[in-house]
Amino acid sequence: MQIENFKRVQKEIPENVTLVAVSKTKPVEDILAVYEEGHKIFGENKVQELVRKYEVLPKDIQWHLIGHLQRNKVKYIAPFVHLIHAVDSLKLLKEINKQAKKNDRIISCLLQFHIAKEDSKFGMTLDTAIELLKSDDFLSMQNISIEGVMGMATNTDDEELIREEFRTLFNYFHVLKSHFFKFNDAFKEISMGMSGDYLIAIEEGSTIVRVGSAIFGERKYL
Ligand SMILES: *Cc1c(COP(=O)(O)O)cnc(C)c1O
Repeated sequence: MQIENFKRVQKEIPENVTLVAVSKTKPVEDILAVYEEGHKIFGENKVQELVRKYEVLPKDIQWHLIGHLQRNKVKYIAPFVHLIHAVDSLKLLKEINKQAKKNDRIISCLLQFHIAKEDSKFGMTLDTAIELLKSDDFLSMQNISIEGVMGMATNTDDEELIREEFRTLFNYFHVLKSHFFKFNDAFKEISMGMSGDYLIAIEEGSTIVRVGSAIFGERKYL
């Protein structure tokens, strides 16, 4: 990897936007190189890989799980995960709450929305999220902090479409904020924007961008 890539991306991101350096598939040496520049926020999308890296890397790194999370794997990350980006069901949230309680901590989560035209992506509709937030199950959870929303735009060159999808997520955020989190200052994050579209996302109100290949180079999947 080239550390210049990291520095260039970092420079483009305003101070009030959080940069999650997405290190999936990349070796710990690459993560350490970015860490040594003073950056401590990294994202992974697979539980096993996240745990393996957590174990060998400095303990002041904030680890974000950005990918789809299976319920039976929550227990492995519950002791240390900083933010879970992709909560898309009440069942998953219940399990996170249970494991958070076991670890005597509160786990921060974002609700993932389906905003892309592609149907391969995970995420809820606004109605499903409202149902979740109104449910007695949710209201009784004591070890969860919902801090905002997350979404992925369609993988396309059509900038207007990407913008429209980010605007949809921005609107969902404000609907939920005004109905459920008006007096909850923790609910403030909009996680949107990846290597191909983070500058557009920032223009559309993103507060967290998740950038991988623009920092670490293209990924090779074996
Ligand atoms: C891989 C991944 C990213 C980063 O993708 P790049 O295009 O490499 O920046 C962001 N968000 C999620 C959910 C991912 O899985």
